[in-house]
Amino acid sequence: MTEQQFRGLEVRDLVKKYPKAERNVFDGISFDVPKGQVLVIVGPSGSGKSTLLRTVAGLEPIQGGTIALDGDVLETGKPGTEKAGRSKRPSALRTRIGMVFQSYDLFPNKTVLGNITMAPVLVQKRKKADVEAEAMALLERVGLADRADAKPHELSGGQRQRVAICRALILHPEVLLLDEITAALDPEMVREVLDVVLDLADDGQTMLIVTHEMQFARAVADRIVMIEDGRIVERSTDPDEFFAHPKTERAREFLHTFE
Ligand code: ADP
Ligand code: MG
Repeated sequence: MTEQQFRGLEVRDLVKKYPKAERNVFDGISFDVPKGQVLVIVGPSGSGKSTLLRTVAGLEPIQGGTIALDGDVLETGKPGTEKAGRSKRPSALRTRIGMVFQSYDLFPNKTVLGNITMAPVLVQKRKKADVEAEAMALLERVGLADRADAKPHELSGGQRQRVAICRALILHPEVLLLDEITAALDPEMVREVLDVVLDLADDGQTMLIVTHEMQFARAVADRIVMIEDGRIVERSTDPDEFFAHPKTERAREFLHTFE
């Protein structure tokens, strides 16, 4: 009998240190995101949430542990790599994980369509007509088909974040990482972005999400991890239970600040 292969993202014993920092941000943190599921990470500012997503995305080198996807090791940490810039992950593996950031970093001189089609056409060498057709379908899905020819400065923040999501999705990431993507938005635009994410979750997109929107977290999550000071304070595969009856005093205090 063959052993059943785990499907999804596996982070094991991750160690991360920044150059010149006195201590490690993470000193051996582990978690899984099974394929088709959503893991939401919550925790106070400075606890390491963005660093965690950046290391999983391959934007930062790691000094220990492994990051694997469907059993393929994307990266193994090596001590002394603090100053290596980006991780040494090969680009073929890099595109298997996509990321959207808090501040929409769209190219200001390109149209919405141009922003979405640039990487697949220039980097992946896909056919322009195919990529444009797919981009239009994605824009339709997020309610922005009529803005394809607009420039980023002509869009609201919520619209720009929906374009940023399309730009990540067109690379067909197996895992999508979202780092506080509504944190910089005016309140009335938060819903339109979170609805897109809920729709992706319904569709089975594997995601690792950092958010301070606790109602959204509860609705979208299959699993919850709370971190503080680079350590897991509490984890749960029952988000309703986590939000209604957190087990640790620290999680209770933290959740209380959102009431
Ligand atoms: P969060 O996203 O939870 O607010 P971060 O991952 O941004 O937390 O930060 C975790 C810790 O790492 C903090 O102590 C922060 O000051 C530190 N840190 C973040 N980025 C850098 C960096 N580029 N260089 C050095 N230290 C950093
Ligand atoms: Mg952060």
